[in-house]
Amino acid sequence: MGTAAPDRPGRAGLSAGSLCLDFLATAGQRRGQSVDLLNAPAALDDWLAGQGLPVPVAGSAAADLGAARALRSAVNEVARALLTAAAPPGEGVRQINACARTATPVFFMRADGRTRVPVAESDASASLAVIARDAVYLLTGEDLSRLRECACQDCGTLFFDRSPSGRRRWCSMQRCGERVASASYRQRRTPAPRRPASLPAPR
Ligand SMILES: [Zn+2]
Repeated sequence: MGTAAPDRPGRAGLSAGSLCLDFLATAGQRRGQSVDLLNAPAALDDWLAGQGLPVPVAGSAAADLGAARALRSAVNEVARALLTAAAPPGEGVRQINACARTATPVFFMRADGRTRVPVAESDASASLAVIARDAVYLLTGEDLSRLRECACQDCGTLFFDRSPSGRRRWCSMQRCGERVASASYRQRRTPAPRRPASLPAPR
């Protein structure tokens, strides 16, 4: 676990452009350190709740965390294969489909029409099914050219570009865009080392 505070994608800013990609972004590199936000069952609960997805009544168990991480690996492998136009790994596809097959959570609204009645889920499989189906929907969609890897050298986060211009380059402007911009600004401000006068000019 790195010391850098990881960004926590919240519901407000589906920062990677899709639920399944935000799920992938729970693991990755932050300032050269490997970070995994899903490092305990309670962390999975926090993440699911942050996305508005049901948390198991008694909290996630180790098996839920294992299933979540396995789904995350599968989505990661399949998405990255498709990104390079390679055939996706069969096991990854099988894993995503197995999760997608599970019934998704039931939501009911209360009489006020503004609040939800919580429906108890015994494990995380219904919530993981929502993520798996999002992956199926996204990866089999028409515009896969908008699936990209962050242009920041040591980031590698996948995102789906939903910008009108289709020119998004960073997973997050805050995390990577500004970092790259300030690095290139510093580079421009640093004068190039002077060549000693005795050396001939390069041809
Ligand atoms: Zn990035």
